[in-house]
Amino acid sequence: MIKITKFGGSSVADAGQFKKVKRIIESDDARRFVVVSAAGKRNSGDNKITDLLYLVDAHRTYHVDCTPLLDDIKQRFVDIATELKLSYPMAEKFDEFAAGIQTHSTEYIVSRGEYFTAQLMSEYLGFPFADAADYVRFHHDGTLDMERSCERIHDLVVREGCFVLPGFYGATSEGDVKLFSRGGGDISGSIVARALNADLYENWTDVSGFLTADPRIVPRPRAIRRITFDEMHELSYMGASVLHEEAIFPVREANIPIAILNTNHPEERGTIIQERVEPEEGDPVITGIAGKKDFLTVHVSKTKMSNSVGVLSAALNIFERYGVSVEHVPTGIDSFGIVVNGADVKDKIYAIVADIQHEIKPDEVKVIDELALISVVGRNMSNRPGTSGRLFDELGKKGVNIRLITQSSQEINIIFGVNNADFERTIRVVYDAFLDETE
Ligand code: ASP
Repeated sequence: MIKITKFGGSSVADAGQFKKVKRIIESDDARRFVVVSAAGKRNSGDNKITDLLYLVDAHRTYHVDCTPLLDDIKQRFVDIATELKLSYPMAEKFDEFAAGIQTHSTEYIVSRGEYFTAQLMSEYLGFPFADAADYVRFHHDGTLDMERSCERIHDLVVREGCFVLPGFYGATSEGDVKLFSRGGGDISGSIVARALNADLYENWTDVSGFLTADPRIVPRPRAIRRITFDEMHELSYMGASVLHEEAIFPVREANIPIAILNTNHPEERGTIIQERVEPEEGDPVITGIAGKKDFLTVHVSKTKMSNSVGVLSAALNIFERYGVSVEHVPTGIDSFGIVVNGADVKDKIYAIVADIQHEIKPDEVKVIDELALISVVGRNMSNRPGTSGRLFDELGKKGVNIRLITQSSQEINIIFGVNNADFERTIRVVYDAFLDETE
């Protein structure tokens, strides 16, 4: 059994968190491959080391003295090393790095957060350190070289049998450090899981799994126990996220499940994400709810549109011309709406409407803004009649005005629009109706 364990920034924020990581690793022999983020926030007012390093880079670019910032970062690492009585010459190594600050690339500077965190973790766990620059390989165009990375990580395992690898970066074949996008330690963990064909990719964070709803809207929402990759993609797209989107692909292709677990509460079950979830007695109909505010819809009506060809595509072309991505297109017989993200059309909406008027000659074109979209996601809705009936019945009873409805033919979600002002209340109504009662 092989489990890849990836620990996020809050899981390695200080010596106390390092101790929790060690307990987790030592409690299961299958946990021999560890990927870490840079030490993150110790409390809500704290800074992530990665953010501080970006700040260091900005300071040096504008020739502003960054010594106090470097001292702060160094102290964070030295505190961990001292409290855990590690022999790694932390202060010395950091000084070496700081002395060359003007010559390093931005990516190299920022990657040192993960690098030093992993150095300390490697000694603390007694596992060899594996520099991601030697194992995670990028092409020159900045894209990941999955094949080479997998080969190298595989060879490393054959040689070492266990390791701690810093997440978030890798290097080109010339040795130039390259970063993934923010939160990319999740991608590194996923690549290692894929390279070793792991049985499970454990992603340790500070939440007990993927939540059924946003905790800022629903008090103490329960965690989702089991979710498919497709469902998670739907929820993430609509704003719910604990995992970097791109971390899904390497493991998904290899059919490796991901577990989202809580370093501060390892006894909790967390969430398992996998390709297919076998139905179980008592499964909830709805897996989760997510949503976003500030969409707008451009409503176009034109008599006899249903008998003419090309009206909808002409309208969509206009949006494409302005580089605006279209979210949904609910259609009627002689009308349709084009739903877009409000921020994407902020400065263009008048020009778009003028083009629609000019090119399509509609009877009416209206812009309706302040629209919030809510996505109710659940694999168990498909082929089960009655869910949307119950959903809209509940919303009707609570006086929520629905402004649009769409459902994909895959039937894993129902997306509907409400006024921005009704957004939070609507999510609570759906949660109470469908998720509050489930185990
Ligand atoms: N340390 C990086 C960040 O803060 C990557 C990660 O944590 O996954 O974005």
